[in-house]
Amino acid sequence: MNIKTNISNILNDLDEKVQLVAVSKTKPTTYILEAYQAGQRVFAENKVQELVEKSAVLPDDIQWHMIGHLQTNKVKYIAPFVSLIHAVDSKKLLIEIDKRAKQNDRVIQCLLQIHIAQESSKFGLSEDEALELLEMNLANVSIDGIMGMATFTDDKQQIRSEFKSLKNTFEKAKSKFHKLSILSMGMSGDYDIAIEEGSNMIRIGSSIFGSR
Ligand SMILES: *Cc1c(COP(=O)(O)O)cnc(C)c1O
Repeated sequence: MNIKTNISNILNDLDEKVQLVAVSKTKPTTYILEAYQAGQRVFAENKVQELVEKSAVLPDDIQWHMIGHLQTNKVKYIAPFVSLIHAVDSKKLLIEIDKRAKQNDRVIQCLLQIHIAQESSKFGLSEDEALELLEMNLANVSIDGIMGMATFTDDKQQIRSEFKSLKNTFEKAKSKFHKLSILSMGMSGDYDIAIEEGSNMIRIGSSIFGSR
């Protein structure tokens, strides 16, 4: 496995409108540094502790994204440095992020996670719930887009239709909240479909760093 080659292969396929987020969860910092040396600056983790530990020892100009389900009581650990939180799925969490951002004298960028998959296990908001959160006026959070995960299936048509529905929600929300700009959808197995359906941020782990 060659991390550098994997990254350039993916980037070669991408339009410059699509941002590549390298998902480094479970992978050692040596792998992250290899990707960093290839020019990658945006990395994501799904566990708070791992995010905190890795960010402490890796270069300061890395932008760290939190992609996993985030518990309210752990927001304080990442609030000083996190660059984007992808999976905001409750009002309570949003209010806590606002509070901790304020304590750190910063504005934290967030995405709302929308439930699009058939599996009931996946977290996320309905479209109406997301629109309600967008109405809130919190000074220290900036909701800049939405995020979703398709069902884990080989059925490409189903994945496509779930991404289509997320894109619809995005357009609908954007018509009311003009500053929304990020549509985070697509992982190693489905990012080609996600991009065809309008994604502008893909979260890629195993295609860069190997399987977990
Ligand atoms: C792990 C993870 C990814 C990356 O998955 P791969 O299939 O390894 O590309 C993307 N998004 C989220 C939310 C994840 O937890």
